[in-house]
Amino acid sequence: MAEIRIEHVRKEFGSFIAVQDSTLTIGDGTFFVMLGPSGCGKTTTLRMIAGLELPTSGRILLDGEDVTMRRAAARDIAFVFQMYALYPHMNVRRNIGFPLVCQGVGRAEVRRRVEETARLLRIDHLLDRPVSGLSGGDRQRVALGRAIVRRPKAFLMDEPLGALDTEFRHLMCGELRDLHDRLGATTVYVTHDQMEAMSMADRIAVMNHGIVEQVGPPQEIYDRPATMYVADFLGSPPMNFLTFEGAVRRGDRQVRPGGALVAVPELHEDRPPGPLALGVRPEHIRFADDAPLRGRVLGAEYMGTTQIVTVETAHGTVKARIPSGRDVRTGETVGLALRPDGLSLFDAATGRVLRSALHEPDHPDTRRAAEVRHG
Ligand code: ATP
Repeated sequence: MAEIRIEHVRKEFGSFIAVQDSTLTIGDGTFFVMLGPSGCGKTTTLRMIAGLELPTSGRILLDGEDVTMRRAAARDIAFVFQMYALYPHMNVRRNIGFPLVCQGVGRAEVRRRVEETARLLRIDHLLDRPVSGLSGGDRQRVALGRAIVRRPKAFLMDEPLGALDTEFRHLMCGELRDLHDRLGATTVYVTHDQMEAMSMADRIAVMNHGIVEQVGPPQEIYDRPATMYVADFLGSPPMNFLTFEGAVRRGDRQVRPGGALVAVPELHEDRPPGPLALGVRPEHIRFADDAPLRGRVLGAEYMGTTQIVTVETAHGTVKARIPSGRDVRTGETVGLALRPDGLSLFDAATGRVLRSALHEPDHPDTRRAAEVRHG
């Protein structure tokens, strides 16, 4: 088990900056997910933690000890890749046991630890099978087995489920989380898939062009995004933005997109006149005849118990998730009521959230909002 800390880590490839000044602490035993689109620097960060890549500047600490210059083999960290990287000419038993054989562990001990690992992964019935005939899920379990059998301080996983079909991925997400809980080792997991991140992580770091935009538990970054980028990256459909010009003052509890008055969580900072964006999740919009914010329905997608209705307003197009029971006609005018405790207000010029009761975890309004959400 290990705490991993990266301090002001930067990585340049020639003139290209892949990771810019990242500082993160990954707590001992945490399931930590780095989430972001392709090319944002997730794999590079992971490779620097593993010792496969040297940072251009900054430090990497394992349990408080500076390992920046220590080679990968001496870090006691296991790396699990997307491509299973199994030895095709060996059976499952020999694939899993290989790292121990390389370490010079005795035969009886190798056998005992391989069988214990296989039981943990529920592949003990496959031990004497060649890996070539295994399903994608079982091959990934063998790859995990090879990492687990060493009992490393931490696991680094780079899109390990990327090659599996959707059904298997869901299954493996549950299995990986369960395995993590049983092993208790620190896990750093890289993915571009928000559902994988939200379902497995204790904490998520959302990355964008080599920058960590926000770190926090899944619900916190979903409910209280620090930037418009994070708000837009999470959620399906993502958060809507109603854009308008305005100024806000500390203590305000309402904003005025156009003439409409919208209640928001109490604001905790002043902002001179400029572009603002009111962020609202689709599930926090309700149709209400008397709501001052109005729009025209462009279409609806049936999703089962809910439907996603696209509405054009004077401040941008929004998607509302409303019960399927509501009859919706294209072209009709609807009033949009926005749930105040779910609203975030952003400075649209910088993309940064304006501090408000919602974004202050200790504020009584935030606690009340959380209680409402948890029923
Ligand atoms: P993906 O999921 O596509 O791997 P990622 O978020 O993991 O994306 P990285 O693999 O960390 O991204 O790459 C970040 C950026 O650094 C990319 O633009 C990539 O092309 C670049 N990069 C990575 N490795 C090298 C290298 N060895 N030489 C030059 N550029 C590199």
